[in-house]
Amino acid sequence: MTATLQNHIAEFCAKVPSHIRVIAVTKTVSVEAMRAAYAAGIRDFGENRVQEAETKRAELKDLTDITWHFIGHLQSNKAKSAIEIFNWIQSVDSLKLAERLDRLAGERDRKPQVCLQVKLMNDPSKSGFSVSELWEAIPQLEKIEHLQIRGLMVIPPFDLESDATLALFHQAKELAEKIRLESNLQIDQLSMGMSDDYALAIQAGATMIRPGRILFGARF
Ligand SMILES: *Cc1c(COP(=O)(O)O)cnc(C)c1O
Repeated sequence: MTATLQNHIAEFCAKVPSHIRVIAVTKTVSVEAMRAAYAAGIRDFGENRVQEAETKRAELKDLTDITWHFIGHLQSNKAKSAIEIFNWIQSVDSLKLAERLDRLAGERDRKPQVCLQVKLMNDPSKSGFSVSELWEAIPQLEKIEHLQIRGLMVIPPFDLESDATLALFHQAKELAEKIRLESNLQIDQLSMGMSDDYALAIQAGATMIRPGRILFGARF
């Protein structure tokens, strides 16, 4: 069973251009399946719950070269643990959270890499900076010392058609370019694309994709 899964994941990765980082989204996925993904070459795992990631990290501690990415909404009372567990926090969705993480990272002498989660379309079910909030926050974000602000993370509304999804991904790419040119932030990453739209995301310039179901099957 795990050999089949390993082959399936290896085949998926072989089709993805080599400059794209595949973040395997493993929320609800077993550690056995994660080991199969690791055997297939996956080194980046994405989780959306701090507690679940903490448990899995302990169970997988023999695999020392995993990079852990947080991709969910981070509650402020979990920020401290998140700093300790994750190498990347892709879902920094407010200035308040960024400043809190900055302080916590400074106290622990850490410097996690982060993405700013941006909401390019109104979507009440998702958190994130609106474009205007993001521009407004940039002067404060530029003062942050203990986070490496590396890029933008985008999640399209789930029922968007593919033309509109592609347009949204292009818009994300342009926004990242503009921020790089017009601020001191060293934005060089664009995290976008899940199981149903990763090909569109790659087409529009994603540097990281976040597939889950297409690697591991449906979540229950
Ligand atoms: C669940 C999730 C994914 C993966 O979604 P799939 O549809 O399983 O590929 C990617 N990114 C985020 C932020 C998620 O919450």
